[in-house]
Amino acid sequence: MRHRIRTLAKLETILELSDAERAALGQGGDLLPLGITPYYMSLLDPADPQQPLRRTMVPVHQEFLRTPGEADDPLGEDEHTPVPGIVHRYPDRVLFLVHDHCASYCRYCTRSRVVGQGELQPDRARLSLGLEYIRNTPQIRDVLLSGGDPLTLSDDKLDWLLGELRSIPHVQFVRIGTMVPVVMPQRITPALVKMLHKHHPLWLSIHFTHPDECTPEVVRACRRLSDAGIPLGSQTVLLKGVNDSVPVMRDLLHRQLMMRVRPYYLYQCDPISGSAHFRTTVQAGLDLMRGLRGHTTGYALPTYVIDAPGGGGKIPLLPESVLGRDGDSLLLRSYTGKVHRYPDPQPGRGVARCESA
Ligand SMILES: *Cc1c(COP(=O)(O)O)cnc(C)c1O
Ligand code: SF4
Repeated sequence: MRHRIRTLAKLETILELSDAERAALGQGGDLLPLGITPYYMSLLDPADPQQPLRRTMVPVHQEFLRTPGEADDPLGEDEHTPVPGIVHRYPDRVLFLVHDHCASYCRYCTRSRVVGQGELQPDRARLSLGLEYIRNTPQIRDVLLSGGDPLTLSDDKLDWLLGELRSIPHVQFVRIGTMVPVVMPQRITPALVKMLHKHHPLWLSIHFTHPDECTPEVVRACRRLSDAGIPLGSQTVLLKGVNDSVPVMRDLLHRQLMMRVRPYYLYQCDPISGSAHFRTTVQAGLDLMRGLRGHTTGYALPTYVIDAPGGGGKIPLLPESVLGRDGDSLLLRSYTGKVHRYPDPQPGRGVARCESA
């Protein structure tokens, strides 16, 4: 963690930066922090700015372009926050943001408004507020720890937090959302895994993006977790030019099955500010799913979802939830029946125009 690449000066010693990358890093200011672990850095191509893994971690100036329908908090998480760090959107489960640090920062992060800002500290006083809320809300049977990345906490802190959650009788199910096994697989030590094992039933959702991430180190990390009886799922964000083709996605899904990781969700990229260069059309995602279904193992297929702008929860892209279009917006119905709009400009319009601006 201490040796992460965090500055333009350092990055320049490793990569040949493109103009778009240099322009972004030169602007500083509102930029989501730069942070790349040395391990993940070793997977980046020093010469090719279009390499998929490099695009996910190295900023480009398009991050500063705001296009219609984008927002800093597109999912309206701040509105569903009863105490700092708890997002209570669904009746029976909560998202518990344990802190705002990640091992590496993804440029398309849905929580780019909070991550790396240092506002959500993992001190016991704040975490205790979240625990108290969960303890006092008996309908919560499922707690998803996220952030930031919970696996960047120390073993001791995480052990304490999981122990507290497990002591709440109505909490049946705890899972951790993490990218650490992918960006810092060395963190998955025997000691960590032994500690996690004490808190079963515990599930893990691992954030994967591209088959190039499935290195021997990651294979070993997943094996350790699986061998400790932790069911592994994956979450992947659909990203233009990164993983939006059938061969790339199929390769990723197959490698996950071999690592005993069950693909869970494929997310349409959230319309956070400055994300147009990453977002595909929804049609592209549907075409991708059609190119996979039937052609591969059913276990390999994630559910393709949009996290509803405005906060309706995850909406699967199925005929019953897609109501139609209104200009550049796709109209979606959430599980509560409410209608949400996702900005989905068609090729040659909207996004394309903004990109060339
Ligand atoms: C994703 C999410 C969950 C978990 O949803 P599942 O569909 O059960 O995986 C819970 N709360 C919030 C706020 C979420 O964004
Ligand atoms: S690991 Fe998750 S929370 Fe952290 S920057 Fe990436 S997408 Fe955001």
